[in-house]
Amino acid sequence: MDQFSGISSVAMHATGHKNADDAHLTPIYATSTFTFDTAQQGMERFAGSDKTRIYSRWGNPSFTAAEETIAALEAFGLKDESGSPLKLKALLHSSGQAAMTTLFLANLKAGDTVLSHFSLYGGTHELLHRVMDATGVKTTIIDMRDLNLVADAISKDSSIRMIHIETPANPTIQCVDIEAVTKLAKEKGLIVSVDNTFASPYLQQPFKYGVDFVFHSTTKFLNGHGTAIGGVLIGKDLEKMQTSVWKWHVLLGGNSNAFDAFLLSLGMKTLELRMERHCANAMEVARFLEQHAAIAKVNYTGLTSHPDHALAAKQMRHPGAVMSYELKGGLEAGKKFIDKLQMCVRAISLGTVDTLVSHPASMSHFGIAREERIKYGITDGLIRMSVGIENLPDILNDLEQALKD
Ligand SMILES: *Cc1c(COP(=O)(O)O)cnc(C)c1O
Repeated sequence: MDQFSGISSVAMHATGHKNADDAHLTPIYATSTFTFDTAQQGMERFAGSDKTRIYSRWGNPSFTAAEETIAALEAFGLKDESGSPLKLKALLHSSGQAAMTTLFLANLKAGDTVLSHFSLYGGTHELLHRVMDATGVKTTIIDMRDLNLVADAISKDSSIRMIHIETPANPTIQCVDIEAVTKLAKEKGLIVSVDNTFASPYLQQPFKYGVDFVFHSTTKFLNGHGTAIGGVLIGKDLEKMQTSVWKWHVLLGGNSNAFDAFLLSLGMKTLELRMERHCANAMEVARFLEQHAAIAKVNYTGLTSHPDHALAAKQMRHPGAVMSYELKGGLEAGKKFIDKLQMCVRAISLGTVDTLVSHPASMSHFGIAREERIKYGITDGLIRMSVGIENLPDILNDLEQALKD
């Protein structure tokens, strides 16, 4: 079937169920290399006229199954410029960081600049400021919620080659207008990439607005169960994805492995079901916290109090499952709250079926100077929460008891 009515069917059937042994699910092809019957066959495979596999760093059927599913999810319901169903190509990587490295190295060279927003994921921020900087690629960080600043930056700085958008983003769940920023970028012929990790393709499809690349840390909602680190880079220029981007990917060596790819394929089958429940629970948790006496502030775009409430409603199906909130009692209250949790899990990361709670000031950002982290909105009493799909009353009861003096 070419067309499905929703993404659950896409997630389960986009790749079909054909393989050499009629296995229902794509097997875990735990093999580094593939055999040739003859020298002639080897030659044809290297020439590309025979598409059979050669070596797993260059591709493996277990990776392909996950890649084709992700490409189909991001393209679901979208059309290309000529009005035909949009076709995308995805490349699975060993981590989000590896996929991001391919994205930047395959598209930028010394002298180019990347324009981005200040609430970037920490790993992306460091990758740009350490690794890319060392290759001669500069980064300019602005507040991309102000479209005048975006227009100003790209008209004044002709070295800007790429705009990298992450929306929604840590820690205050700020959103950037993908459609408006892409429109400005395309007037100048710039490359646009979007980190869609927090939303997942079920909640947000950046290719709808004409972006060039979408990135996910598959570690989060796509896998959904916290079983494997992984990343994916998806592009709409199929020729470029199959040649230059693929070449960088293969040379950098950040390939996935068959077992992680299998876990990802398995997790994605329930993406729609999980996201519906994640988001329904998150909305109720946000409402509960907003009226709680111990809470100073809740950052969740589902609440009308969030500055990006309208923007999130425009470009996302639901406001997502990640939020942060501020305890009135500061650092000590934050630590005490975290320690008292009985069911919610104390851990960084996000997007797993169970609720994860972290306290950036004492955990992920402990090593960063206080003034520095406060500039990025990471205040002493800030709690980051990825709301899971447990039964809602149990999440609320756990929060209630942990917030009691
Ligand atoms: C986790 C994450 C990454 C990095 O991905 P890894 O899988 O940890 O390498 C990048 N961007 C966002 C938004 C993330 O949450």
